Amino acid sequence: MYGQLTSDVPLGPFEGTTITVWSGQGKQAKLHATPSCSYLRSARGVERTVHLDAAVVGRMCPQCGTYGSWARPGTGLAVFLDTLTGLGLLYELDSFRDPDEDAFEDEEVRHAAAVLYKPVADTPAVPGEQDDAEDDEDDTWEERQEAQRVRESVLRQWGGALASMHRTHRQLALFPWLRAWAGAALEAKAGYLRVLQEQAQLLVAERALLAATAAAAMTEPDVPADEPAFAPLGDPGEARRQLLSLWRRWRSAVEDSWDDPQQQTYVVHHLTDTMGSRRKGRDQMLERARAVVAGWEADVRAAAGERHGDRVVVARLPHDAAERGSGRSLVDRLGEWELGVLASYTADVVWEPQSVITVRVPEPVAVRLLTQHHTLSYSEPETDEADQPAAQSPADPRSATGSGVGPGVFDDTPVHSRHLVTGEHLRALRATMRDAEQLYVVFSVGGGLEVVALSVLEERCAAGWQGSIIAGASDLPDALFAPRQPSPGQEEPVWPARIHDPHHEAFGSHLSTAEGERVLVRLREGRRDTDHALRSLALARGVADLRQLQAVGYDDRDFPRRPFASAVWHGLLAMEQLDLEPFEPDTDTGWQRGSGLPLGVLAGVQAYTSDAEGRYQGRAHSPDCKHRRPEHGVSRDDDLVTIAELLGNKGFDPCSKCGGYAVRRLSQDQVAYYRAAHRLHSLTHQVHSAAARNNGTGSAELAAQLREFAELDRRTANAWFPLRKEARQWRQTVNALLGELPGPA
Ligand SMILES: [Zn+2]
Ligand SMILES: [Zn+2]
Repeated sequence: MYGQLTSDVPLGPFEGTTITVWSGQGKQAKLHATPSCSYLRSARGVERTVHLDAAVVGRMCPQCGTYGSWARPGTGLAVFLDTLTGLGLLYELDSFRDPDEDAFEDEEVRHAAAVLYKPVADTPAVPGEQDDAEDDEDDTWEERQEAQRVRESVLRQWGGALASMHRTHRQLALFPWLRAWAGAALEAKAGYLRVLQEQAQLLVAERALLAATAAAAMTEPDVPADEPAFAPLGDPGEARRQLLSLWRRWRSAVEDSWDDPQQQTYVVHHLTDTMGSRRKGRDQMLERARAVVAGWEADVRAAAGERHGDRVVVARLPHDAAERGSGRSLVDRLGEWELGVLASYTADVVWEPQSVITVRVPEPVAVRLLTQHHTLSYSEPETDEADQPAAQSPADPRSATGSGVGPGVFDDTPVHSRHLVTGEHLRALRATMRDAEQLYVVFSVGGGLEVVALSVLEERCAAGWQGSIIAGASDLPDALFAPRQPSPGQEEPVWPARIHDPHHEAFGSHLSTAEGERVLVRLREGRRDTDHALRSLALARGVADLRQLQAVGYDDRDFPRRPFASAVWHGLLAMEQLDLEPFEPDTDTGWQRGSGLPLGVLAGVQAYTSDAEGRYQGRAHSPDCKHRRPEHGVSRDDDLVTIAELLGNKGFDPCSKCGGYAVRRLSQDQVAYYRAAHRLHSLTHQVHSAAARNNGTGSAELAAQLREFAELDRRTANAWFPLRKEARQWRQTVNALLGELPGPA
């Protein structure tokens, strides 16, 4: 049964939290987490806020009590309830407590073990291979199949119980007030785990595990490739290649198995894969090959038969070793040999503060566990506690006990009562919140306010960072993100035609932050997460260096983690370049030169490029360029330079497709100055050409436009020119042009 919240579950610090419920009329009407619950029959469901307590839990509708979201995602209460319900802690506490319908009686297990250990007669493991295959033999084969099925099932059950125990303890660690309440269930689970382990131990033979260990340590044998029996394989060189390939196949079957090596003899048939069944010498070849394999078997069995001392090895289960309800956790992925070793030799398991399995194994098994790659990672037991990796600084007493997840870690209390966030909190958040990988405003004394992705925050917490979460993207005030009406009929394109005339009012506006927002909305149109994308954009705009926004690591489908939709990058960056001609020096050597205007407020505009200095092979690319890696957006490997640094940079070698960099979107003032500079640049050409022709027609109009630039009001001048000398330079340029104008004819 999926876990349903019941009124006996202690709510701890969440008792009394205000939640919103929907219910029909009547004092005893069931409470629902959502007005759309199918159990809410009355169309007149009333919305109310209530204080969460046992009585409220008792009135929850079973559907909502199992799957409902009673709290805003990303709050402590949501993490608590989501961790408990559904396939969460309540489900875990209830599973692997007693034998279920898949369980086997001890008697069945003993019978299966007897069948498995009965010395196999000198027959192949696959029936029908010999002419004298008799009914007896078929029966034996079927009995053996059944016994193997029992073994597989019991061992997997034991692994499943182990994984469930691990998950249960990891989840309980988040909510320490549940510990006492869960005590009886934990005891039952521990008891059943022991029962399963005892059954599993009956089904796995030490000699098989040792033989597999010896096979794993075996070095390439000499093979009798030039014997006449192997002539059907080809010349001795080819026969040697095939026999060695047979040996590798045999070894990998034996070393990963919990079965006696004798069960793997069938691999010899791969020698005849490309051979007709009537091929001359085929049967003799197979017979000889079986003898060769029998020799290898004898070798590993002899090695397995030696007496060995024992050694203690430990396996620490990583916190995410057992994702909930899934069949793809680490424990589920254990191979036969490893699972067999764990079931046979586990001497002790401690679950707190971390799940650590202690095995006492024969020396060769210890060596194999410690030196080869396995699903779990094994190490020697630590004699000194100082070897423990210090996840948090020892100065923080809270980290030692684990503070659990209560209110105040995430955005659900006043900021002044926030707790330090820990890796444990973030794991709980990630396990319960679908879009947990988002941007968060975090605060630390050392770093001040910052905006980081969850994965980056996890990295920091693991490295001992101490700070608090102020808000996630989804916590930003709703009032700032009013629901948008779909853009009415007018089919405006996502990317409108470029305006080239600087005298046009909209010149340069395609570079603006406002345009970034519009483009983002258009790109996400019709998607449910448009609102989330806008929130991410708003948070990211405050980030000084966009390279910090890159998430780290991969999600559970092995895609790189992304804190927001890639379209958000179009909101942050204009995937194009500034036309810098007005700011280039006035070299006076021909027409269409720069005007040498000051960069002013544009000087600090950021450009993101793969290579600002020509340091790497190939051209520089913009974050949006198809010639780059498949992911869009800025990465930590990109260069961040300012427009001032880019202007006149000889090393910069841009790609002709993308222009080499993307520019961070411009503020209103920056767009206004960009347009003004282009207008003045264009006026300069007009003045020069009028002066060259000494033609005063239109001078009055030019003069009027120039005067507008000569007499900037103070606000504009301050906004455009951070440096006073730039304002002066601008004025001088305009005045010089006014002086150059030929008088009216
Ligand atoms: Zn309901
Ligand atoms: Zn490019």
